[in-house]
Amino acid sequence: MSSDFTKILLNEDEIPRQWYNIQADLPSPLPPPVGPDGTPIGPDALARVFPMNLIEQEVSTERWIDIPEEVLSILKIWRPSPLYRARRLEAALQTPAKIFYKNEGVSPAGSHKPNTAVPQAWYNKQFGIKHLITETGAGQWGSALSMSCKLVGIDCKVFMVRISFDQKPFRKIMMKTWGADCIASPSDQTEIGRKILAETPDTPGSLAIAISEAIEQAVSYDDTRYALGSVLNHVMLHQTIIGLETRKQFEKVGLYPDIVIGCAGGGSNFAGISFPFLYDKIHGKNIQVIATEPEACPTLTRGPYIYDAGDVAKMTPFLPMHSLGHGFIPPAIHAGGLRYHGMAPLVSHVRQLGLIDATAIGQIECYEAAMLFAHTEGFISAPETSHAIAQTIREAKKAKEEGKEKVILMNWSGHGLMDLQGYDAYLSGKLSDYPLPEELLQRSLAAVKDHPPIR
Ligand SMILES: *Cc1c(COP(=O)(O)O)cnc(C)c1O
Repeated sequence: MSSDFTKILLNEDEIPRQWYNIQADLPSPLPPPVGPDGTPIGPDALARVFPMNLIEQEVSTERWIDIPEEVLSILKIWRPSPLYRARRLEAALQTPAKIFYKNEGVSPAGSHKPNTAVPQAWYNKQFGIKHLITETGAGQWGSALSMSCKLVGIDCKVFMVRISFDQKPFRKIMMKTWGADCIASPSDQTEIGRKILAETPDTPGSLAIAISEAIEQAVSYDDTRYALGSVLNHVMLHQTIIGLETRKQFEKVGLYPDIVIGCAGGGSNFAGISFPFLYDKIHGKNIQVIATEPEACPTLTRGPYIYDAGDVAKMTPFLPMHSLGHGFIPPAIHAGGLRYHGMAPLVSHVRQLGLIDATAIGQIECYEAAMLFAHTEGFISAPETSHAIAQTIREAKKAKEEGKEKVILMNWSGHGLMDLQGYDAYLSGKLSDYPLPEELLQRSLAAVKDHPPIR
């Protein structure tokens, strides 16, 4: 390949045929999910919520797991995704660093989320499931799952947080275009929804309520299951196709990253790009891996490592994770996909093991970074993705100060064409930062003091 390339492409037959399971290589094993009394929860307890074939992936310690041919054939609609060299961004920063970004915005739904939505829909169908139910906040996950269910041939229903349902119509229209049933949450279709509507008819809803409604309905029918777009081990597994492709792309140009960066909400796109490189780090490679999160929702940087529930109603088992407390309600920053109180157990664990670093950045710096990116590389980034860009720019500036020719890789997790309100707020000077006040954090953590300790 000539050295002045802009992007590195793989042929379709170079697509990875197996996912990488980091559980095979962890220096110490992941602590199990537990009940409120600290007793480990076995796979069977999850059987009403998820199909057994996905539960098997959730607990597997096999290093490589085959990607089914039918899943690959759908992923090939947009995969392998391109790896770009950000030459114009490098020039603007006058940095000696080489900056690369993996473009996950090329999927039909516009982000990395279909990488797991497709296999989740497919494994559910294999298991004989007819209906998949999920929740969505701003709509990224709901739209990814709607598209995937349509392509696989299974019904999809999405409980969408009321306020987004009313204020962000475009993702809702995408879901309906892909044939999904999208309803505002709280709804009158579930017991918990009816109860909340009776008490507070005007509630804007919340992700926690929507999760409770989705799980309640999913466990009520034999042929129905629930799907989650991040946090769980099998979601991290499906996303490793990102990093596996990236490794092959670097091989083509004889380079290897010194720094790998991803934004982290529930942790899936970060795990996807970084876990295949962490394999090398565990086996002796010197490489820095950084997860970047919002200052307003600083799970990895300020949340303690504890057993906590995945939702407010504590319907999920307790998972070992960095958490701000299951009752934490983050400020309304524009990066909706990063407003989750917990972090994936696998990402939390590799942080505990010292394999990754974490940073938190305010949204103004992130929008400034996204603007520079749009002005140099052209692409308009999702507000979540802008956190990875901001960290990349910090590292590129550091490389300049140190006069080092570092290779920096970031995951460009999605485009922002459905998130233009945030850009509007930035452009009209209405954006502010919300560093999380310590007393708010402490108040939220008071509610998790009685949770069992992680052993
Ligand atoms: C949902 C989303 C995220 C955050 O989720 P993770 O599970 O942490 O990856 C990041 N970027 C985009 C574009 C998203 O849609």
